[in-house]
Amino acid sequence: MEAGITEGIGRNHRIVVLILQQLRCSFLIIIRTGNRIKMVRDHYAMHFFDKAQYSKLLREARYAACQKAGAEICGLIINTGYHLAFVQTRNASRRAGGFVLSSPDVRRIVAATQSLGQEVVGTFHSHPAALPAPGDSDIRHAVDDSLMFIFDCIGRKGRLWKIKKGRARSIKFRFLARSHDA
Ligand SMILES: [Zn+2]
Repeated sequence: MEAGITEGIGRNHRIVVLILQQLRCSFLIIIRTGNRIKMVRDHYAMHFFDKAQYSKLLREARYAACQKAGAEICGLIINTGYHLAFVQTRNASRRAGGFVLSSPDVRRIVAATQSLGQEVVGTFHSHPAALPAPGDSDIRHAVDDSLMFIFDCIGRKGRLWKIKKGRARSIKFRFLARSHDA
């Protein structure tokens, strides 16, 4: 477990903020104000992805869109406890310009994920010709309080979102430091 400590001065009291990176990969932030302790989960959470996996999927997203206009790739986001991993599923959508996660794929991945003590925390898909922001239908079909990553085939980048109560909020993410950089 890694811990970072940031100390600051509050209005009248010293606030000690302890950031503990939990096994769930999210951050638990403990704010101590006098004798009161408040825990804020995920509020300032930093989400980590593997750069190689991200780049591979971005390439696949662009390749799919080249092969067939409007074709999207899709899959699940798994919290491995260490980072967020993309696990691709088949796209069961019959029309171009949309995605439907293949149910058998989802069942198989969820079972495997649970047996490893990991957690499905969201979905990803690609936008062949649109900005990497969730559309109305993306938001409507999302599980409440889940993550959504969108690959932008034209801008060649990706963006992470949190979908909650019918709204999408942009979330920061980073790439894991590669082992030889550490
Ligand atoms: Zn979309």
